[in-house]
Amino acid sequence: MHELSIATSLVELACDHARQHEGRRVTKVMIRIGVLQHVARSLYFCFDNVARGTACEGAVLEIEEVGLTVECPACRAVKAPSGLYNFRCPDCGVPTPQVVTGRELQLVSIALAPDAASDRPALGRAGDEPIYARSTS
Ligand SMILES: [Zn+2]
Repeated sequence: MHELSIATSLVELACDHARQHEGRRVTKVMIRIGVLQHVARSLYFCFDNVARGTACEGAVLEIEEVGLTVECPACRAVKAPSGLYNFRCPDCGVPTPQVVTGRELQLVSIALAPDAASDRPALGRAGDEPIYARSTS
């Protein structure tokens, strides 16, 4: 369910973005997710499902996974703990509640098709009224 709600908000955001750019199609959505978010691979499938029938249909979801790092107050340095539930400095063993990376859930970028007109043939048969008709008067 977690994955489905993330996918839904991603598609909504990307479609909003597409609407603001003359209805161009979304080709790629890039996000950054920290390991502490525990987002499963099923996010890819959820995204494809939610995207169907929207400006995001067929868009590629690119996920950058961000590992866990913490700041050790004793070493005064950023360290990578040995496990996701082990918030201790791997070198000196001091508890390190200060998470530096690993909690991210960020939308990095949304790529749009170069031009709405270029993929119009894919949206309708030849001779159909253009979807984004402009006044010619
Ligand atoms: Zn340390």
